[in-house]
Amino acid sequence: MTTAFSTESFAQQPIQFEVSFKEPQAHYVEVKMEIPEVNAKTLDVKMPVWAPGSYLVREFSKNVEGFQASAPNGNPLPAVKTRKNTWQITTNGQKTVVVRYRVYAYEVSVRTSFVDDSHAFLSPTGIFMYVNDQIDRAAEVVVKPFSTWSKISTGLEPVQGRTDTFQAANFDILFDSPIEVGNQDIFEFTAAGVRHEVAMYGGGNYDKERLKQDMAKIVDSATSVYGENPNKHYVFIVHNYQSGGGGLEHLNSTVLGAARFNYGTETGYKSFLGLVAHEYFHLWNIKRLRPVALGPFNYDEENYTTNLWIGEGFTAYYDNLLVRRAGFYSVENYLHALAGDVAAVENRPGNHVQPLSEASFDAWIKYYRPNENAVNTQVSYYNKGALIAMMMDITILQATNGEKGLDDVMKLAYEEFYKKRNKGYTDAEFKALAEKVAGKSLDDLYTLVNTASSPNYNTYLNVVGLALVDLNEGNEEPDLGIRTSVSDNKLIVQSVLRESGAWKGGINVNDELIGINGVRIDAVGKELNRVIQSAKPGDTVKLLVSRDGLLKEVHVTLTANMQAKFAIVPLSNASDAQLSLREKWLGRD
Ligand SMILES: [Zn+2]
Repeated sequence: MTTAFSTESFAQQPIQFEVSFKEPQAHYVEVKMEIPEVNAKTLDVKMPVWAPGSYLVREFSKNVEGFQASAPNGNPLPAVKTRKNTWQITTNGQKTVVVRYRVYAYEVSVRTSFVDDSHAFLSPTGIFMYVNDQIDRAAEVVVKPFSTWSKISTGLEPVQGRTDTFQAANFDILFDSPIEVGNQDIFEFTAAGVRHEVAMYGGGNYDKERLKQDMAKIVDSATSVYGENPNKHYVFIVHNYQSGGGGLEHLNSTVLGAARFNYGTETGYKSFLGLVAHEYFHLWNIKRLRPVALGPFNYDEENYTTNLWIGEGFTAYYDNLLVRRAGFYSVENYLHALAGDVAAVENRPGNHVQPLSEASFDAWIKYYRPNENAVNTQVSYYNKGALIAMMMDITILQATNGEKGLDDVMKLAYEEFYKKRNKGYTDAEFKALAEKVAGKSLDDLYTLVNTASSPNYNTYLNVVGLALVDLNEGNEEPDLGIRTSVSDNKLIVQSVLRESGAWKGGINVNDELIGINGVRIDAVGKELNRVIQSAKPGDTVKLLVSRDGLLKEVHVTLTANMQAKFAIVPLSNASDAQLSLREKWLGRD
């Protein structure tokens, strides 16, 4: 968004925030906001409803309490709520208005704030309010740590000469700069000419020296795609919990979730490096090179884009690829991960219902709000977007005799859309740019994006001497078509796959499975599995279920397991040309 008064607002003094912690054990942040140079009878002060990067309206103002406005001398000013996230203050001629409120912060995630006696994680869109139409105004934040805390980690620049004070040139930057306060374990490394700080909260069995080296390799490998790193300073805020994962990208920092004792296994360690690669790649793809709807943001409502398959999907393609390029995955490891993406897409009936572009557009109401039927109605723009990226990469390699690839698209798009124009791309602009690099039409790939269809993967994989195979093909393993969980020692149906026997026979989500063919089912499903496995597709089984407290017998005709088990394998008769393109794509072990 732009403001009609931008020349005036640039000259304005920064809005001053002070955050402190009177009752961290009760999960509260105290916020004081001082707004100088007020020249209006009323002032609308708002809190964003969402956190960019996480496409869900989260209603952060639900955690606000005790909102008060006053003159600098403490005399109260009238304030009324005019919307769920807006307070209107009558200024009574005051040139400076002071706002105070508390925020309850007790939701563990990378995009929500959390405070307890051990630390505070401030996710800025749920902590800081802004003055309506003054997003371009500068802000300063004084952080007053709780008495037992000693460290602050944030991508915000410190204000020289002032203790624990940070500045943001505008509110887009403030809202993109989370703050970790506590006693986190901090270590640093330099890579691509950039100082990187890692702030570890929650402990764990990580090896700092190994992480410094390996994270630096990921940084170098991401930077080499674009040829430059736009930051001087970058912060990884890592929250280590008993179990955890996921991340959220920011302009010059990221917040990562990790399981504190997963660093000790090769799989756990490499998946952490994959997460590092993913969020770091976002520093270009989505934070700077972005779809037109994603920056400048509207903090008041949903920001719709059909291009998350590029913003997230291409990033998901590059995360494993960067781990491969940095030398942590063999070609075989990499292809195994890629086959996992194929399985995640093709084993979901939703792949044939929801086009990828629509999955992106509806992220707000679907991907971030999945229900029990999501497997039948939705496709992930992460997994399928990653596969579109793979197919685009191979298409370009083939069309240019290995001279160019998707790296060239990303680099050129970064230069054209971000560096030259600093504007988001439209769907048509990105396509035209990718076609310019490929030197040919990419209509086939865009048809896959805009329709709910499955690619012929081998059209692409064969180009690089590989083939996708289904290890379950011809396997007539009988299957009900349900997923279950155990609750209170009961076996409960969680989802029913479209077109399966259970779907057609009328098994419902939340049914408790009690008996099969007259035999009691135990909670772990042992008896259920024994009966199913000794049957064959086409056989009918009688299931006794409890539905809303009433017993019911449901007849289900078993089908062959519809879930494929994919692997990507080398073609034994691959030509030198195919092998050479594969090497251009994935390098050599
Ligand atoms: Zn992402």
